[in-house]
Amino acid sequence: MRKHRGLLVAICMALIVPGAVSAGAAPPESAGVYDVTAKTVELRTSVASTGVDVYSVHGDRMTVAATKEQARVLRARGFAQTFQGDVQEQLAALTSGPSARDFPSGYAGYHNYAEMTAELRKAASDFPNIAKLSSIGKSHEGRDIWMLKISDNVNSDENEPEVLFNCNIHAREHLTVEMCLRIAKRFTTGYASNSAIKGVVDSREILIVPSVNPDGAEYDIATGQFRSWRKNRQAPSGTDINRNFGYKWGCCGGSSGSTGSETYRGPSAFSTPEAQRIRDLVNSRVVGGKQQITANIDFHTYSELVLWPFGYTQNDTAPGLNADEQKAFSTLGRQMAQTNGYTPQQGSDLYVTDGDITDWMWGQHKIWTYTFEMYPSGGGAGGFYPRDTVIERETARNDKAVDLLLSYADCVPRVIGKTC
Ligand SMILES: [Zn+2]
Repeated sequence: MRKHRGLLVAICMALIVPGAVSAGAAPPESAGVYDVTAKTVELRTSVASTGVDVYSVHGDRMTVAATKEQARVLRARGFAQTFQGDVQEQLAALTSGPSARDFPSGYAGYHNYAEMTAELRKAASDFPNIAKLSSIGKSHEGRDIWMLKISDNVNSDENEPEVLFNCNIHAREHLTVEMCLRIAKRFTTGYASNSAIKGVVDSREILIVPSVNPDGAEYDIATGQFRSWRKNRQAPSGTDINRNFGYKWGCCGGSSGSTGSETYRGPSAFSTPEAQRIRDLVNSRVVGGKQQITANIDFHTYSELVLWPFGYTQNDTAPGLNADEQKAFSTLGRQMAQTNGYTPQQGSDLYVTDGDITDWMWGQHKIWTYTFEMYPSGGGAGGFYPRDTVIERETARNDKAVDLLLSYADCVPRVIGKTC
């Protein structure tokens, strides 16, 4: 989930394995999953500001992980809450027995970092004319952040609209890696036999970054029991990469300055190597003064939502986002949501966030950018960990939305009858 603040840090601290890079010393503290009723953006922002870990939001109902103290604060602020279970117990119930450094039983269909890397290398070697693998640089712990480019004449920079798909900026949102791998597979293996796929690949340059946060993802699965880890692995206890981007960074109460928070924004904008890598990639696509990337989806789990900018303000329009642009965003967002059954809305309709990747993509570069919150719509701590049996169904569910975005990538305002 893109938005949550909070507290699972405490749990994660108790699970650090000997020899692992320490991410700080928050005291172990148990947390519970609660449904909280909050009817307005202001109230939901108030809930988030207590430091709880927001798992999902549906209308007035927020599902959060909260310590006893945070639950007490919420009660004191007058929020009705229903206890749904213990976070640790919900996580423990997902897995049986240790299978260190890999996904446990029931999750073997997910790709860990090595498997993801192998899959990307295979795509590049099987389809050398249309797929090219490169590293956009290293993560904090030195892992390559891979990018697969798919296009005809893949080794030359043609004058075609570029569309960026990025996944796994939040560590525990493993289903998103599978989403990016599906896009990679579909547009490579389908090229020879499917004329629609060929049409897209011949007229677009598709850029896929399947794991923006490989350190966090590996850390999340390192012990055989999921850690519900969200942030990167910088000391002292990780930074939320998706609050670390440099547009309106830390402006508006939509992130935290506390290192222990799940939405810790870092000491400065772009203090995370991972946000730097994305920034440098996107900046490098300004050619002749023109940003080549026209459209983007940043995939998250969970809640089943299609979100558009801005997150930092509740206003529909803002400096740099006029009424026509807002209308194009919402129109294409709703059209995509019709194909996958997600709920379409502006990011800040959930609650205010600042320094996220999509605000920067649009605010800095005018890239038509969306956040997708994938399956499931709800599910407590287990919502981040659906079994591998759903991968095929829940990634295929976004095929049409992906195709729609690609089809409009030459001129998104075309969706409201405007020209570019
Ligand atoms: Zn997320």
